[in-house]
Amino acid sequence: MATAYAQPAAANYFAAPSHPPPKQRGYRVCDQCGAVEQPTSARFRLCGGCMITQYCSQDCQKMHWPSHKQICQHTSKQVSAMKQPGDMDENLVKNLRKFVSAHSTLIGWAGFQALQLKRLPSNVRQNALLIELSYHPSASESVRRFSIKGTHIVPRTYVTDNDPLVGADIQRREERCRRSGGIGTAVILIQCSDVSQVMPVEVDAPSKISWDYREDWADTLRHFVDSGRIDFKPISTTPRGIVYG
Ligand SMILES: [Zn+2]
Ligand SMILES: [Zn+2]
Repeated sequence: MATAYAQPAAANYFAAPSHPPPKQRGYRVCDQCGAVEQPTSARFRLCGGCMITQYCSQDCQKMHWPSHKQICQHTSKQVSAMKQPGDMDENLVKNLRKFVSAHSTLIGWAGFQALQLKRLPSNVRQNALLIELSYHPSASESVRRFSIKGTHIVPRTYVTDNDPLVGADIQRREERCRRSGGIGTAVILIQCSDVSQVMPVEVDAPSKISWDYREDWADTLRHFVDSGRIDFKPISTTPRGIVYG
């Protein structure tokens, strides 16, 4: 059941929705079987190695390991490469992964808005969203250890050509997404100092996406990140009313 609100709202800027929202695109997809996480089912598990890939079950995770191993170890290696004397903080990589995971709905939504995918679906293959962060290692709450330094639209090749393994992983997700009727994989690059993380978001067909177009996505992103709020829900205006989620 969707949570519909009688009064239109600009954004859920000040008050969080009080009911669990219905899930649509941009949510967790099992990398093995393609199942989409449902609000009623158990939460999907995150691969502990790369902390990017998600699975609906332990069985799917085990089954996927032979084909996932290479990209997973490649991603984890970036963590160990950081652990050299003189690095600002070896916890940065770990904290960044946690941050991206906690804000995945917000970041996915920001990418969707930044690339204007509702109006320009073909943009999914041309551009990527780069989010630059500042690090505040001494913040007591883990969600406040990063703030938004800037956001930029960059050519998608900036991400895919820079790292062939990551490029191949995005291509694989892209093909899977299009086979199931989606428009492709939106690429978001989250960067802090010399550490970065790529967040691929498989995007449904535009007709299935009811998220409102928001020009103020960058302000919304900043507001939620800087205030440490992880309860962001996208807003959709539908014939039934205003829906969060
Ligand atoms: Zn699965
Ligand atoms: Zn992994």
